Amino acid sequence: MRSTAHHADVIIIGAGIAGLSAAHLLTGAGLGVSVLEAAPRVGGRLVTDAVDGFRLDRLGPLLCTAWPELTGTPGLGAPELREFAPGVLVHSEGRRHLTGDIRSARGALKAARTRSSAPWAHRAPRTPRALRGSAASGTPAASGSAGSAQGVYGQELGAPARGGGRGGVVTGAIDRARLGAALHRLALTPEARLLARPERSAAEALAGVGLPGRTVDGILRPLLAALLSDPALTTSSRSADLALRDYARGGLCVPAGGSAALPELLAAALPPGTVRTGVHVTAADITSVRTKEHGELGCRSLLLATGAGAAAELLPGLRVPSFRPVTVLHHTAPAPPPTGRSLVLDGDRSGPVAYTSVMSEVDPSRAPEGRALITSTVLGTPPPDLDRSVRTHLAALYGVTTDDWELLAAHHEPEAVPAMEAPHDPRRPVRVLAGLYVCGDHRDTSTVQGALHSGHRAAGAILTDLGVPGAHEGSLPRAA
Ligand SMILES: Cc1cc2nc3c(=O)[nH]c(=O)nc-3n(C[C@H](O)[C@H](O)[C@H](O)COP(=O)(O)OP(=O)(O)OC[C@H]3O[C@@H](n4cnc5c(N)ncnc54)[C@H](O)[C@@H]3O)c2cc1C
Repeated sequence: MRSTAHHADVIIIGAGIAGLSAAHLLTGAGLGVSVLEAAPRVGGRLVTDAVDGFRLDRLGPLLCTAWPELTGTPGLGAPELREFAPGVLVHSEGRRHLTGDIRSARGALKAARTRSSAPWAHRAPRTPRALRGSAASGTPAASGSAGSAQGVYGQELGAPARGGGRGGVVTGAIDRARLGAALHRLALTPEARLLARPERSAAEALAGVGLPGRTVDGILRPLLAALLSDPALTTSSRSADLALRDYARGGLCVPAGGSAALPELLAAALPPGTVRTGVHVTAADITSVRTKEHGELGCRSLLLATGAGAAAELLPGLRVPSFRPVTVLHHTAPAPPPTGRSLVLDGDRSGPVAYTSVMSEVDPSRAPEGRALITSTVLGTPPPDLDRSVRTHLAALYGVTTDDWELLAAHHEPEAVPAMEAPHDPRRPVRVLAGLYVCGDHRDTSTVQGALHSGHRAAGAILTDLGVPGAHEGSLPRAA
């Protein structure tokens, strides 16, 4: 088992999280591995830029705490994750509705009971700034802490103090309990059963979900659009079920300090010299690759861990899916809008923003002291007057003026995530033939979880083909 400047047991093209997670398993089994990365840094699509004391993700990733790969990937250890408040905050008809913890009927009812027994005085916002901001707009504030956020679950923010009875999209405790019961059942459903269900588009499946239209349109549609980066919900209903099941099993979170922390952790735990950045592979076959910078390098096995388009360039014949465009904007404000750690969704789709959050409340390490960081995501083709229309929409979503907000960065990625339209196989083969393998989010689900899992599957296949006994068995985090 060896790895030199010109030869390795396994060459991996691409140091995104899929390639890095595969490298972990392979080096752990004693193989010599060389990971060749064209960019000057590891991480692929997981990039975090440092700007004026802020940590700005180029993508606005929503991760799920229930993803087995997030806690079960060798090399990641137990990454620091920062969780959003349970439930979501849906903006509809000029008001913000905290859904409460909708992951179970019990949670939803508990939230409703807490609401009816908790006077406003008990929901004191945590930060004086939030208090000032909300008082000025006449809006009861959700605080930055999970505990006090629970105190307002189910309450209509922006309604009169006891105004929970107004018939908005998501206000009914019974509706939320029904949604919670449905999500709870989904959480307990094994993956194999979900994958055996008839497959159609997520939008079609939602129509027959058996929940009131206001719950479907007000909560499920915007939540799924956010989870799948798909505003039209043309994604496979099976992939949508899997995404919703993961949401129901855990909560939403982001890596502390930015999403680049995940590949950096993986790379740091590899043997020194395993990853070579600034090396662009121009041609590849089973036993060698040609690079722009270092000529030809030999190997026993080759793993393509690039995105789908680059993989098909190196290996013509591989299917290239269509992609979902995503734009992420970061604004800074002198004071945080009064939504605490909640993910804010637009139930009416009244503007370009699909979801937004006060990221500095979710993960304080991403903003310098005294500044708020608001991260917002636009799905699909962005409008030409991006910042202006996003600001206008954010002013409505948060119920505050955004005139004094400053745009820190806007990043548009036309090929952000591979589309998972029906029929979609979330476990596409990673073994092309003995000695040649391919992994990445396009072989699995189009998520960080899918990319990591595909890397593990590919490493398992390589070890099996090379006859490395027992090293990988039982080490793959399993989908339940
Ligand atoms: C804007 C945006 C929003 C997203 N939102 C979410 C979200 O909310 N939740 C979620 O889970 N996921 C989200 N994703 C998707 C997630 O980022 C990806 O699924 C994941 O990062 C893919 O990892 P990967 O290793 O498969 O591929 P990549 O990260 O693309 O890594 C491939 C690597 O291969 C390298 N490479 C390519 N060609 C060559 C070559 N010829 N030679 C050498 N190296 C090469 C590239 O430079 C790159 O580093 C989002 C992505 C974007 C862009």
